Amino acid sequence: MRTVYVNGQYVPEQEAVVSVFDRGFLFADGVYEVVSVLSGKLIDFAAHAARLKRSLGELDMRVPVDDDELLEIHRELVQLNEIEDGLVYLQVTRGAPADRDFAYPDAGTEPTIVLFTQSKPGLADSPVAKSGIRVITVPDQRWGRRDIKTVQLLYPSMAKMMAKAAGADDAWMVEDGSVTEGTSNNAYIVKDGAIVTRHLSTDILHGITRAAVLRFAREAQMRVEERAFTLDEAKTADEAFVTSASAFVMPVVEIDGATLGDGTPGPVAARLREIYLEESRKAAV
Ligand code: PLP
Repeated sequence: MRTVYVNGQYVPEQEAVVSVFDRGFLFADGVYEVVSVLSGKLIDFAAHAARLKRSLGELDMRVPVDDDELLEIHRELVQLNEIEDGLVYLQVTRGAPADRDFAYPDAGTEPTIVLFTQSKPGLADSPVAKSGIRVITVPDQRWGRRDIKTVQLLYPSMAKMMAKAAGADDAWMVEDGSVTEGTSNNAYIVKDGAIVTRHLSTDILHGITRAAVLRFAREAQMRVEERAFTLDEAKTADEAFVTSASAFVMPVVEIDGATLGDGTPGPVAARLREIYLEESRKAAV
C-alpha cells in the first residue's frame, strides 16, 4: 500500500480523496510532471520544477508550493514508499469550485496538488533498450498548445492503443508530413552522423530529457540539427530514438514496418543513453 500526497497531507492511497467537481476531472484543467528516481535519487528535478511553473503560468494557474517544498515532498514520498528505482508523478489542477462552469473559478479557489510514486525496479536496465522499440505513425490530432504539459492525454492514449493493435510499441505523430513527437516522448533520427530532432515550438512538449541529451550530445562534439524532419527521412535514417524522463534514451529500430539499419539499436542512441544515465545519476538530488 502506497502513501500518496494530496493537498498538504501524506495519506494511504485508499484514503486519498479529490472532489468530483475538481476541474482536472471535469475539464482536464491540470498539468503534470514525471520525475525519475534512480538509486533513490531524483533525476533532473530542478528542470521539471521549472517546467511545471511554466505550464502553470501559461494557464494562469497558481503555483501551489515553492521549489524547496516541492523537492521535500518528492523526497518524502520516495523515502516513505522505499523507492529505489521508479518515478514520482505530480499533478496540479485548478481545483474544485462549488459547481461545474466553463469559466475559471475565482482566484480564491485552492489548486489541487497530488503526488504519488511508482516503483520500477531496474528502470535504467530495461532489456527493451537493448533490442529497441518499433513505432507506427499516426496523424497528430492533438490540440495546438503541446508545449504545455496538460493532463489532456486522450489522443496520445488512443495513439498508443493504435500502436498496440498494430503490434508495435509506440506511435510517432505526423503533421504536414513531418514528425512532431512520440505519444509520450520526443523523437529523433540520426543521418550521416547528425542528430535531428524537431525544433522547440508550441507543436511539441519541451522535453526535459531532450534538453539534457542535446546538451550532452553537443558537449561530446556530436552534430545536432533542431528542425522538422519528414516521415520519409525517418524511414531512411541510419538510426532513430526517443527520449523521456522515464525511458531516458530509447532506440527505435522500426518505423511503419521499415527497418532502420540492421534492425538493432544504433551506436549514437546507445552512446547517448550511456552518457545521459551516467551524467544524470551524478547530478541527481
Ligand atoms: N513529448 C510528450 C508528448 C510527452 O508526453 C513527454 C513526456 O511525458 C515527452 C515529450 C518527454 O518529456 P520529458 O523528457 O520531459 O519526460
